[in-house]
Amino acid sequence: MLAHGMLAGLDEIAGTGRDARRGGYSRHLWQGADLELRAWFTERAERLGLMVATDRNGNLWAWWGEPGPGAVVTGSHLDSVPGGGAYDGPLGVVSAFEAIGRLQASGFVPSRPVAVLVFAEEEGSRFGIACLGSRLMTGGIDADRARALVDPDGVTLAEAAVRAGVDPERLGADREALGRIGLFIELHVEQGRGLIDLGRPVAVASSILAHGRWRLTVTGQGNHAGATLMPGRRDPMVAAARAVVAVHEASSAIPGARATVGRLEVVPGGTNVIASTVHAWLDARCETDAGTRALVAAITARVEEAVGLNGCSVSVTEESWTGTVTFDHGLRECFGRELGGVPFLPTGAGHDAGVLAASVPSAMLFVRNPTGISHSPEEFAEADDCVAGIDALETLLRSLL
Ligand SMILES: [Zn+2]
Repeated sequence: MLAHGMLAGLDEIAGTGRDARRGGYSRHLWQGADLELRAWFTERAERLGLMVATDRNGNLWAWWGEPGPGAVVTGSHLDSVPGGGAYDGPLGVVSAFEAIGRLQASGFVPSRPVAVLVFAEEEGSRFGIACLGSRLMTGGIDADRARALVDPDGVTLAEAAVRAGVDPERLGADREALGRIGLFIELHVEQGRGLIDLGRPVAVASSILAHGRWRLTVTGQGNHAGATLMPGRRDPMVAAARAVVAVHEASSAIPGARATVGRLEVVPGGTNVIASTVHAWLDARCETDAGTRALVAAITARVEEAVGLNGCSVSVTEESWTGTVTFDHGLRECFGRELGGVPFLPTGAGHDAGVLAASVPSAMLFVRNPTGISHSPEEFAEADDCVAGIDALETLLRSLL
């Protein structure tokens, strides 16, 4: 049965990385499902006669024609959040292959190099930094810091790279790879309801909200659950619960702000143990850089007050930051012209195209998501809308090549 209608590529990987516990997919960098998807990518690319190469940072390239500067590059990512949907990432990769397949079938001969690009660890689900592959390529994260990142099993990025056949000493800014990208187009399922409201299948991205991740470390006093009476406890779990509510309340008071605590780590994490520390990860976003900084400052003040009610303290550490991205005006104008009356939409979700935008002309296409839900097994796109996305990508490639 074709679960995704005409998008054969999504059907080919529909069984890879299913998460029986959470539902949906868990596909994390250089682990089983990700390695299977990389093998699928290679096989799929070779079917189209493309030449596959892995760059210094574990990003995967499939070249139509000789690799070289000025290339038109399109793609997305194949990794997922824990329990993610089928479309976030893979839709852009599958659509790129479909569009190139159509161009080839029509006898089209590109006038400049073309590549399909898959960025490593876009979701940051294994090592905690979103868009890690594009940040490494562009020098947006220091290589030493990246090598020392640790996954939940205590494996460093450097160790994981070795196991995956990537030399950790060569991780970092890759001028050669970046220098080949003349422009980058990322097609992506919409993460939001903009296209539903417009009644349209496809949009061009205008901007990405400023966003970042912060680690809130709430410290109390670990102790015995049975021997410690309630008065005088300094329980960081209770303080963290107050902190989560404080995050929600502080951000709800600011129009347009979004702030989320979606992950906690309890130390030591025993049923009969009052925890000593709780790590909570904050994702915060707002329209402008200043607005996002102000949001995090307001959250920090509220959280400090909240954890103090339980005799605990909190430290706030910035783990990643991406300022507001405005996509390339020239490409936007070109897309508007070629796609006749296509709408333009901002997004609250981060993407590799947003990281690349600081270095090379970058653009995005969004495909309608009929519920707006993403980062969830419920994420969906109608087959007809996916085909409209491929149509748009094919049109753009024809005009740019
Ligand atoms: Zn994505």
